[in-house]
Amino acid sequence: MATIKLQGIAHSYNDKSAGIIKPADYAVNSLNQCWQDGGAYALLGPSGCGKTTLLNIISGLIKPTEGRILFDDVDVTDLIPEQRNIAQVFQFPVVYDTMTVAENLAFPLRNRGMAAAEIESRVKTVLSMLGLDSRADSRARSLNADDKQKISLGRGLVRTDVKAILFDEPLTVIDPHLKWQLRTELKKIHQQFKHTMIYVTHDQTEALTFADKVIVMHEGSIVQIGTPQQLFEQPGHTFVGKFIGSPGMNVLPCQIEGSEVLIGGIRINLQRTINNTGEKFEIGVRPEHIQLSAETGMSVEVVAIEDVGRHVILRARLEGIEINIIVSEGVAIPESPKVIFDIDKINLYANDYRVADNN
Ligand code: ATP
Repeated sequence: MATIKLQGIAHSYNDKSAGIIKPADYAVNSLNQCWQDGGAYALLGPSGCGKTTLLNIISGLIKPTEGRILFDDVDVTDLIPEQRNIAQVFQFPVVYDTMTVAENLAFPLRNRGMAAAEIESRVKTVLSMLGLDSRADSRARSLNADDKQKISLGRGLVRTDVKAILFDEPLTVIDPHLKWQLRTELKKIHQQFKHTMIYVTHDQTEALTFADKVIVMHEGSIVQIGTPQQLFEQPGHTFVGKFIGSPGMNVLPCQIEGSEVLIGGIRINLQRTINNTGEKFEIGVRPEHIQLSAETGMSVEVVAIEDVGRHVILRARLEGIEINIIVSEGVAIPESPKVIFDIDKINLYANDYRVADNN
């Protein structure tokens, strides 16, 4: 396993020889990032934000337009994927149909000249991890899409000598109830073997349940690196707040006056000093952190009430801005509801980035 460092990495799919690359042409904007040896990371973001490009830069499938990649301080930027010793699992199964399941798993080990007894033992372990023991001698072609993808995962996990294992949306083709099981299994495998793992997904549940650290990408840039709890409680960028959570964080444009924020005609005292530097200010408050009341608080106009089983989502308008409120099961919604934001859960944003608490 290795510590992987990206230094000033940027990538544009446009041909550099055609002239200067415009900022808008970059699929990945200039960034530095360190992936610690043995870490479980998720690279999370919507379609097109640059996740796969970044993953392929690490594996060597793409040579970056700018920057260097170091594995344990050795520069690998000019090495091809085979020389980087990385295992990569893709969205769709990559299996040899004519081989058996066990042979598929043994193949990468045989290629590296591992002793037969060791191959047998590794293959047996991985078959059992993935619940494929009973299919070991079946031809891969006879398996369904779920099991084929399990083989792909297995081929990534079977090697012990790799610098890192990269997963690119590996559970997309997997049946929903099996997804949860495999995700849990991957987490256990990580805890046991401590591989450096980077897992690309656009699904926040997958990212938050798999990773110790989640890296959120937005329009080619990393906007936050944090634990699942940090991403939820202190989103570093309004995009992260909106992207994570269901529904996401409410973001309300505001003005600053001393320690107060003004939203239309409403004043909320944040009880801290705010440096008003004339930027675009917003506050973010999660639907879970808004209380309903019949008597005190800010008046809202109810737009819709959605019962999603575990709780109710109240969609309402506050000073003309749509907000969502999560109402616990059994709590009655008053006829003319008022809302109170949990002061210590309010995040303040200047030009989309979170303002630190002690500011
Ligand atoms: P997805 O989950 O949809 O794959 P992603 O976050 O992984 O999205 P990338 O696939 O890295 O994003 O794409 C980032 C940007 O680069 C997108 O605008 C995409 O259209 C563009 N892009 C990706 N591959 C190529 C390519 N081979 N040639 C040109 N542009 C590309």
